[in-house]
Amino acid sequence: MTSSENSGLSRRTLLRTTAAAGAAAAATTVIHPGAALATPPVPPTQPDQSQPPVPAKKKGSIPTPAQYFGTPIGTDGFLATWDKMVPYFQLIGARSDRVRYEEIGKTTLGYPYVLLTISSPKNLANLDKLVATNTRLADPRGLSEAEAKKLATEGKPFYYVQAGIHSTEVGNSQAAIEWAYRLATEQSDYIEKILDNLVILLQPCQNPDGIVLVNDYFAATAGTKYSRTYPDLYNKYNGHDDNRDWIMLTQIESKYNVSILNKYRPQVFQDSHGASTGSPRLFTPPYLSPYDPNIDTILVQETDTVGLAMQRGMTAAGMKGNGWGAEYDYWSPSRQYCVYHGSARILTEAAAAANLAYPQVSTKLLGQQTVDINFIEPYDSNTWTLRNIIDWVSQAFYSGLEAVAYDTYNWLYNSYRVGLKAVTRTSPFAFVIPSGQRDPQAVLDALEIFHLAAVEIHQAQAAFTAGGKQYPAGSYVIYTQQPYAGFAKTLLEVQNYPQLLQYPGGPPQRPYDTTAQTLPMLLGFEADTITASFSANTKLLSSIKPPAVAMPVTPPSTGAYAIGPESYGVFRIVAALQKQNIPTFRAAAQFTDGGRTFPAGTLLVPPSSAVRQLLTSQSKDTGIPVATLGSVPSVPGIQLKPGTRIGLVKPPDNMPSGWLMWVFDQYGVNYSVVVASDYADLAGKYDAIILPEGVSRNSIVNGLSATNYPPDWAWAFGVGTTGWNQLHDFVTSGGTLVTYGSGTATAQTLLGLPITSTLPTGSSSDFYCPGSLLSQEFDPNNPAAWGVPANNPVWFVSDDAYRLTSTTTYPVEVVAKYPDSGDQLQSGWLIGGQYLNGAVNGLSWTVGKGYVVTFGSEIGFRTWNRSEQRVLFNAAYYGPSTKLTADQFQRLGK
Ligand SMILES: [Zn+2]
Repeated sequence: MTSSENSGLSRRTLLRTTAAAGAAAAATTVIHPGAALATPPVPPTQPDQSQPPVPAKKKGSIPTPAQYFGTPIGTDGFLATWDKMVPYFQLIGARSDRVRYEEIGKTTLGYPYVLLTISSPKNLANLDKLVATNTRLADPRGLSEAEAKKLATEGKPFYYVQAGIHSTEVGNSQAAIEWAYRLATEQSDYIEKILDNLVILLQPCQNPDGIVLVNDYFAATAGTKYSRTYPDLYNKYNGHDDNRDWIMLTQIESKYNVSILNKYRPQVFQDSHGASTGSPRLFTPPYLSPYDPNIDTILVQETDTVGLAMQRGMTAAGMKGNGWGAEYDYWSPSRQYCVYHGSARILTEAAAAANLAYPQVSTKLLGQQTVDINFIEPYDSNTWTLRNIIDWVSQAFYSGLEAVAYDTYNWLYNSYRVGLKAVTRTSPFAFVIPSGQRDPQAVLDALEIFHLAAVEIHQAQAAFTAGGKQYPAGSYVIYTQQPYAGFAKTLLEVQNYPQLLQYPGGPPQRPYDTTAQTLPMLLGFEADTITASFSANTKLLSSIKPPAVAMPVTPPSTGAYAIGPESYGVFRIVAALQKQNIPTFRAAAQFTDGGRTFPAGTLLVPPSSAVRQLLTSQSKDTGIPVATLGSVPSVPGIQLKPGTRIGLVKPPDNMPSGWLMWVFDQYGVNYSVVVASDYADLAGKYDAIILPEGVSRNSIVNGLSATNYPPDWAWAFGVGTTGWNQLHDFVTSGGTLVTYGSGTATAQTLLGLPITSTLPTGSSSDFYCPGSLLSQEFDPNNPAAWGVPANNPVWFVSDDAYRLTSTTTYPVEVVAKYPDSGDQLQSGWLIGGQYLNGAVNGLSWTVGKGYVVTFGSEIGFRTWNRSEQRVLFNAAYYGPSTKLTADQFQRLGK
């Protein structure tokens, strides 16, 4: 096609748009009288000569998905794979003037992370200006109302649709192939109007690693006796939790996603998922209560608007069995970064077919068959297929596009209104994070999260007073009058989750995810909420750096470098020391030197040039100060075992162990996943073994079934009672075992630990804690709790609390317990806190020659609760260490 034909097409498209937009303008005036003062949202009737020229149409026809993939998308038993999808999207990008293909970067496993930007050729030629308009509306500081109205008339809303974050929810990424093709090729008034009015950001897969693992495995097992579903985490570190990372932003894929949201400021973020086979054929918003009060109310309503437009579209198209207002709430920021950044989050959840891509067939009609206001039309068939999924989600997608494309002015102007409310917020005035805190790593981690999340952080250039308190120079200030302060606010404040019951006097209504996210409690740092305005000399930071620390003088040969245990970041230093086999000691009691008190757990490292080099670089990276001791104190202590070997029991698809792998890899910890063949010689391979949440006797003894999975998975096959007994013997003959969450019940079974639950069995009306922060008293003199503040909240998510039934079965010490009285809840939601009063949580045991540390609560949870998570490191390094008397310690083991 020639360029003159192309410009003819553009003119025709524009004329159509004009008529449509005129209709939309009329509708706007009627529906929204408040907008009557606004400039009517009519685009120019002639091409604007000041705009960049429309680029020449690219050459070549685009094969249909069926032609390209050789099989129609949605065929039973067929899933297109990423190695074919990526070139197809590249080809569409090369041949369509409506589509730009972009590789944002490589994933954790090295696959391309892809974004398609789809709009009319004219809009794409003008993309930079459209992005600038959108970001200006989102951050309206200094923008007048009249200017905002003008921008809302000139701009185009951005609609970001993401598929495939959960890789076994296969339909959405398959549908995205058809969406890209249709939007690139269809010559219709319908599609052209959508493309004229919107910029669509189509991300065909948010987790490319997962689509490779799941779809390739599905293809590889075709025609075999094996199960067709990939059995392990479909993201290296977090599997299904990959959409719970939107507050900590640990994963590279999360960072890419956030970079897209931060760049384009889309009005809509459609988050496409799949649910169980019995669920509504398609769920869309509105959600259940509650919504986080830090989400702007306009966005809540816009979410409902798009969700109900999707419902309307499906009903009108004769697609039955859809629902809203059930199961999913609007509370947890870990699932919805976008809503603190100006985008309505539209969750779609399609019912699953059978075995990923085969028809789900029942003897009766599928799904709910009773009618309700939020489920108006039951599904009327006993069969549900991959093709059905694609049809339903596609209808919902196009209806969502229409809802925005036919109402562009309101969507754009509302972005301004949302931004305006944020930048004119009056309370609180600011959050202050004081400088000089005990854990520089915690402060650094928090600031890096906020910085990634486009939260502006200022640093005080001089001491100042706020809220009646004096703050030193270097303190960090987050003023709340900025566009995305809501993200910081929801992470810095205490959550008061509402007491939602299924009916008056009934059991609690389950939140969809966790109820607390108070970062200062999770990481262990101070942040003050300042209600009243104050003035301080502050400077906006363009990057985040750890506080500058100076290395001390080199100690004499009789002395040592000392590093206090107050920061969880010290385990990065320990891991680095271990890697270089550098002798490393820890004082087992408090001591003083030169007027400074060093707590139990302080690291001592004898000087050498290699040590100085290592500590200089580690201290610079973490902000953790190093001190010099002229002489080594005479206190009991330990010498860490050089190259301590940590084994991680990781059943397939176990997310807690996956998250731990991420932490270990970040820190550089020497660890391996314990595989079935290791059980014959656990002591020969490991010094310490960790049983995380989710490890059960069954997952160890029976494991994956060799009947259902190929020999590649032998590492995860069950080890039988022989292996179970070998794990027992590993402990009693001198190994270290660290357990948490349900891993502790497993250890109880393995070793006969004399503990019993203090929690009532049965009704959630009596006790309920679905992901909250609870009070906890740690004993910082216990080696497992070295460095942990005496009062450090613990993360509790449907876990257990205990009392000891015997103190004589094994020598036992209490590492951490719930206070004897008082409100156990620190943040989130808790029913029945009195059952926790005085209960023990962390215990250290001597079992035979072995050292065992057990926690009933989840001391490792999605990398969130890093302050308490350090007990894992404490215990894993302490168990295998050499114990030294005060005299031996003073001679550093010599
Ligand atoms: Zn999902």
